[in-house]
Amino acid sequence: MTKFIVVTGGVISGLGKGILIASIGKLLSSKYKCAAVKCDGYLNVDPGTMNPVEHGEVFVLDDGTECDMDFGHYERFMSVSAKGDWNLTMGKIYKSILEKERKGDYLGKTVQLIPHVTDEIKSRFYKIADQEKCDVLLIEIGGTVGDMENMLYLEAVRQLAGEKGRDNVMFVHLSYVPIPKGVNEQKSKPTQLSVKTLNEIGIWPDVIAARCEDYLTEKIKKKIALFCNVDENCVFTAIDVPSVYLIPGELDKQGVREIISKKLGLELPLDGIPNWNKLAKKMVEVKNCKVNNKINIGICGKYTSLGDSYASVVEALHHCSANLDVEVCIKMIDTESIEKNPNTIQNEISNLNGIIVPGGFGNRGWEGKIEVIKYARENKVPFLGICLGLQSAVVEYARNKCNLIDANSTEMNPSTKNNVIILMDAQKKIVDKGGTMRLGSYEAKLKEGSIVSELYSSNFSFERHRHRFEVNPNIHEILIKNGLVLSGLSENGLLVEYIELPKIIHPYFVATQSHPELKSKLEEPAPLFFGLVKSAKELKELKKFI
Ligand code: GLN
Repeated sequence: MTKFIVVTGGVISGLGKGILIASIGKLLSSKYKCAAVKCDGYLNVDPGTMNPVEHGEVFVLDDGTECDMDFGHYERFMSVSAKGDWNLTMGKIYKSILEKERKGDYLGKTVQLIPHVTDEIKSRFYKIADQEKCDVLLIEIGGTVGDMENMLYLEAVRQLAGEKGRDNVMFVHLSYVPIPKGVNEQKSKPTQLSVKTLNEIGIWPDVIAARCEDYLTEKIKKKIALFCNVDENCVFTAIDVPSVYLIPGELDKQGVREIISKKLGLELPLDGIPNWNKLAKKMVEVKNCKVNNKINIGICGKYTSLGDSYASVVEALHHCSANLDVEVCIKMIDTESIEKNPNTIQNEISNLNGIIVPGGFGNRGWEGKIEVIKYARENKVPFLGICLGLQSAVVEYARNKCNLIDANSTEMNPSTKNNVIILMDAQKKIVDKGGTMRLGSYEAKLKEGSIVSELYSSNFSFERHRHRFEVNPNIHEILIKNGLVLSGLSENGLLVEYIELPKIIHPYFVATQSHPELKSKLEEPAPLFFGLVKSAKELKELKKFI
């Protein structure tokens, strides 16, 4: 029988519910099969059409679902391959209720928020538990307790506890304990008030995790336990840490594995997570300059105003940092500003040891990306292009090495004559914007002896995709003739998935139509990122001796 752990958030948003769920999942997953559900209150069916600067990166799953970036944390920590059904949105719930109503499924009945919407939500939980046959289903209620948009989810989990029994459902409330300047004392009142709001809804948390810059004092733990009706040993600190990868280890130190196992009647997973903890510590050590290597990697795109827009790219670089013993300093570089002032390129990127042009959409900053890639290619700066990054690298190569001076992508200029990047055939009839790109995991065949096949240690790869455009098949031969290696093609051999320059021409010039950052893990960094950081590190070391 599946056990349920529900995480709610109080006081303020942004306390890290997603990381808390992922960390609890990490601690349990050595023994138990876990799955995680995220409940979002918004009315979009999925976040695929939202601007990353507003909502953070759109995360793509193997099955092609575009979902909330918290799924990145779930997958990175719990080593699961999440499914689209695990991301509930109010848009999805209402859509299915309205479809059922029109079909006549509720004939004769008034369709209401309770029980119809709450039943729909619970049925989704039960379906996932059933399909995944998981021992533990972790449920994250988005937003903050008291928000109107998440009320129905809270009502649904209240009912869930009644249906499954309190021994099988555990509520964890993530709250905030501030230490106001001048007062210099941990304050419990915001936590008391948010638990009171939760109680009014009929939910009594079993565990309180309090985000705080210091460990909670015994005094404050006692106070929270008393006012919030929890055992004293069930109050713990969600401590501020320099890296989120330290959190599972932090929770473990505070006995969270024991608390959860006891509450849910689960046998304690005995094994800790020693290798994970070692790498997490290494990530912080390299940041604190305990090792001498430091490299600058530029992420050159247009969504640079919000760090979360490129969350998985950033995480993939951190994974490499820990595994390669090198501090990776990430510089966000706005290619729109390079486009407007091309003579700033030297200033902006000349101190970079590696350059990434990540995925993206539309015209803004496009010419800037091409300038950056030209610089990387000509100055032999290690370069990794991702999705739009591959497309801009092909345009740059066509313009500057294949003598197609006006080469472009039809996404940027629909009437371009030398259209080296074109809309895929399968996309031509599509009108709807949501969930209609080439999405999800696809196989690619890798050229023997290529840099990419070496990095994947294989002749094929499975990576996730999210795009509408492709390299024009008519230009493949021209690119090859002029020295570009098409080092990976789709399974049917038609679509360019990887390009590279031979090592004798450039130390690391690699691009892919896929998004390898989405599958990168602390204990298993994405191969192409690993290749970039390794090459940047080696070149920097070499320069010391020149
Ligand atoms: N805009 C490009 C396309 O649709 C690239 C997409 C991306 O980088 N994810 O093909």
